[in-house]
Amino acid sequence: MTAESVGRPTRTRGKPPENVIPEVAGLWATYIKQNVPGFMVSAGAILAAGQQTTCTMAWGANTYNGSSNSGMHGEVDCLNQAYHAGENLANGTFQALSNPVCMVCCAALYSVGITNVPAMAGASKEYGNYSLPGWIFDDETAGGILDRLLGNAAFTQWITDLSAEARGKSVNRQALITQMTQKLIRH
Ligand SMILES: [Zn+2]
Repeated sequence: MTAESVGRPTRTRGKPPENVIPEVAGLWATYIKQNVPGFMVSAGAILAAGQQTTCTMAWGANTYNGSSNSGMHGEVDCLNQAYHAGENLANGTFQALSNPVCMVCCAALYSVGITNVPAMAGASKEYGNYSLPGWIFDDETAGGILDRLLGNAAFTQWITDLSAEARGKSVNRQALITQMTQKLIRH
C-alpha cells in the first residue's frame, strides 16, 4: 500500500455553485469591461447595429459562415465551426461582418489568439441569451483558453472554488455567462 492510498482523499467537493458563480461572474464582467478592449485591434469599420449578426471568417483557404441563428453570435459560430474542423484557431481572420463585435465575443476571440476585428461595439450592446460552446470551458491550463476568456481572477476562483464536476456542467457554465452579461449591461 502506498502512502498515497492511505492518505486523505483528494478534495473533490467544491463550494456550492450558487455561491461561487455570482462572484466569478462579477470578476469576469470587470475583466471584459476593463481589460479586453485593450487587447483588441479594431480596424474601425463603420457597421450598422442590427438584430441578426452574420459573419464570415477564414482559416487559410477555408471560410466559415456564422450567424446568430446558431444560438451564438456569428463570430462565435464561425469559431465553433473552425474548432470542429480542426483549424488552428489563432489563425482566423474576418472576411465579412454585419455588426461590430461585442465585448464578450472579443473575449472569446482573444481567448483563442485572435485580436484583429473589423469594429468593436460598446458596453451598451444587448447580450440576451448569449451562449458559448462547451469546448471553450474545457482548456483549464494556466494561460490557456479559459484563463484568457475569463481573466485570471475569475478563472482562478472558478477552478479553485468549484469541483471539476460542477465546472463541467453546462447549466453552471450557462449561469456564469448569463450572470456575467447581466452585470456587464448594468455597468
Ligand atoms: Zn458578440
